[in-house]
Amino acid sequence: MLPRLAAAFRYGHPHKWLAPRVCFRQLATQAKHDPSKLRNMALVAHIDSGKTTLTESILLQSHFLSSAGSVDTGSTTTDFLPAERERGITIQSASIPVRWKDWTFNLIDTPGHADFGMEVESASRVVDGAVVLIDAVEGVEAQTKGVWRQLDRYDVNSRILFLNKLDRPGASFRTSMLSVLANRLHPRPMAIALPIASFDPQDYARAEPGIQGLVDLVNWEVWKYDSEGKASIHALPRTKEELEQSELFPPSHPIVPHLLPARVTMLDNLAQVSEDLFDMLLELPEDPSAYLSVQASDIMPHLRAATLKNDVLPVLCGSAFKHIGTELLMNYVGELLPSPLDVEPNPKAVAANAPLRMLAWKVGWDKRKGWMTFVRVYSGTLKSQSGVMNASRNQKEKVSKLLLLYAAEAQEVEVLPFGSVGAVLGLKSTRTGDTLVSVAGGSNASSLRDIIPPPPLMSVSVIPHSHADLAPVEEALNALARTDPSVRFETHEGQLLVHGLGALHLEIVESRLRDEWKVNFEFGKRRVSFRECFGSGDISAVSNVWQTDIGGQPVQIKIDFSVTPLEDDESGDPLWDGNVVLTADGKPLPPGELHLNANDALAHVAKGISSTLSSSPNTTLALSRTRIQVKDLDYPKEVHPSVLAGASAAILRKIVRAAGQGDLMEPYIRLKITVDEGSVGRVVEDLGEHGGEVLDLDAAEEAEPEPLVEESTYIPPQWLSPSTGKAAKGTSSRMKRTILAVAPLSQMLDFSSRLRALSGGHGLFQMENDGFKKVSSLRAMDILRELGRL
Ligand code: GDP
Ligand code: MG
Repeated sequence: MLPRLAAAFRYGHPHKWLAPRVCFRQLATQAKHDPSKLRNMALVAHIDSGKTTLTESILLQSHFLSSAGSVDTGSTTTDFLPAERERGITIQSASIPVRWKDWTFNLIDTPGHADFGMEVESASRVVDGAVVLIDAVEGVEAQTKGVWRQLDRYDVNSRILFLNKLDRPGASFRTSMLSVLANRLHPRPMAIALPIASFDPQDYARAEPGIQGLVDLVNWEVWKYDSEGKASIHALPRTKEELEQSELFPPSHPIVPHLLPARVTMLDNLAQVSEDLFDMLLELPEDPSAYLSVQASDIMPHLRAATLKNDVLPVLCGSAFKHIGTELLMNYVGELLPSPLDVEPNPKAVAANAPLRMLAWKVGWDKRKGWMTFVRVYSGTLKSQSGVMNASRNQKEKVSKLLLLYAAEAQEVEVLPFGSVGAVLGLKSTRTGDTLVSVAGGSNASSLRDIIPPPPLMSVSVIPHSHADLAPVEEALNALARTDPSVRFETHEGQLLVHGLGALHLEIVESRLRDEWKVNFEFGKRRVSFRECFGSGDISAVSNVWQTDIGGQPVQIKIDFSVTPLEDDESGDPLWDGNVVLTADGKPLPPGELHLNANDALAHVAKGISSTLSSSPNTTLALSRTRIQVKDLDYPKEVHPSVLAGASAAILRKIVRAAGQGDLMEPYIRLKITVDEGSVGRVVEDLGEHGGEVLDLDAAEEAEPEPLVEESTYIPPQWLSPSTGKAAKGTSSRMKRTILAVAPLSQMLDFSSRLRALSGGHGLFQMENDGFKKVSSLRAMDILRELGRL
């Protein structure tokens, strides 16, 4: 990595980078910050669509790298964790600033798997726009819809679609566009660039796949790539006659007669959502060439406005692998995607002296730099060497340095102004998802929508190789939990247990511990996490008094708890892992570590409650769906309130033991499985055998959605992508059946290999958490046996 980057600076761009590093710094500090030129954006896609390859191509085209890395040889810039390189997938979100023309793009690489819960969530919140990639051989895939919904959830409304891999046999511009409609991603996908498979008409006749050029329908230009991949840009003629005679194309090239209709439909389509453009087009003379005379500068503002409102979905295309279409994509990212100003409703936030407010959207550990907190500034300006307040934890923090991270290479800056994204050094306790504000703003500043880690669903025991390895392993786990608060760990009956969101999450934890912290351990058996509910035994006789000895003096503490199970329709508090904890006057009591004042008696009571809830005296499982109210509290004024933690834990433990073991719960998942007709029976049977329940077979709207077809949506003909390969999906999807089901997670850990066997390798599935559900008494026996409690 580093040698390669250094080479980029040395050879990358002789004119711009004369004395590379020095020049670079000057450029960066002298550039005036103009938030209207910022594009905080994500590239998102189904796995293997070419996201990493496109990122590399963008870095190369913007002269950031001298030669693109390749995911196939494990040398890319953004997949920089060793764990990612081995897998060829992107786990860690990184933000990379890229300068293109007078824009700065912050490429925020978001992981696409639900098992990386916290990072997906927090990274999705800091982007203002997105480029969604589609593999043009596959069309819209399961996870394309997943990331699409994810963008919806976080109000990332402005998107550009990039149809990638048009060089591959079987790639189809048309089928990919149709799959957007069929899967109801967007009612108005709008082709703004068309692929030129070849400049030799014979290649179309021979159905030869490829991509040698692009037509930019807005700028009315042709991009022609030579055999070396160098692009030359040529203006297209502005009249129908000249176009037909143009020497850009050999005679009888099939795309030529097609260009005018493509531009006409694009403009008409855009005019449907833009009145001004509509009026302008009405004024045009009747001449068929008139639409060719419309200048890009008269189209772009309307296209931008429509993209910002999500009225249209601009569609670009190319081959990331061959760097075809990358530059055009970058131009349109700059032209069309929102700046932080476009999404900030409060104009005051932009001012340099506005109160500081920012989100820590990722926390990472770097061997040389220590803790790095990636932030996005939502208001005001962050300065190096300044104090900030962590509003989520009520803790003061000190910022030492500010960095812009060019992949693994860092550049120090003095300020991070409004809208920008960068890394902060020096913060000691901030975690992924926290809100930071000016110290003056204090604790009454509101948090940016809090991110609460999802409940852990699986755990694994961690066995250090030797006694001397224990401390480093614990230290590493501590560090990991800060970068990813959805990783939790505890020592339980002498065993170190790590909790995570799923099997893949734990696998990632394992490889990060090995590769990033280099600690010595083995993982034991993976297990799903179960929960115990509050029992129904009589608790009226349990004493509310706890006695202890402090400095030889007997001390008596009295805490009145009211403890009941939650009603069936009552929801638990995610901060309390599905329990509800209230003060005497019925207000929610925050968990111990979130209290404003550590001397507050209730903060210590809350700690004791956490301790008992995390491990029931009946089964050692965590308790869930229990309501606890602290009714009354009495302790000698001369003792420190910290003694209340032990007291409340002990009293509560007695209550839980007296109530006896309640129902057990286990995590369920919701599955959507797509298989060929012939495999449906086998899959349904398998689900039944593993405690699953089929909710729906071919749920009408899911399986065959009414395709969205707008009359005037321009859908290019199939021959535009000549190919001998297989036809893109979409056409064959009719033969597929969809099964919706719920099943216990514990039974589905090896489902992907089972499904492969059951479906002859053609089955696909998606799963999402469906919460904890009570289990039958038979299943409860199984679980207790598994835990060694029977
Ligand atoms: P990601 O999972 O979305 O990050 O996808 P990758 O960038 O890792 O690419 C997955 C595979 O597709 C790799 O083998 C790439 O070399 C290949 N690939 C990516 N882009 C293209 C392309 O434009 N054309 C072709 N033919 N292959 C591509
Ligand atoms: Mg990738």
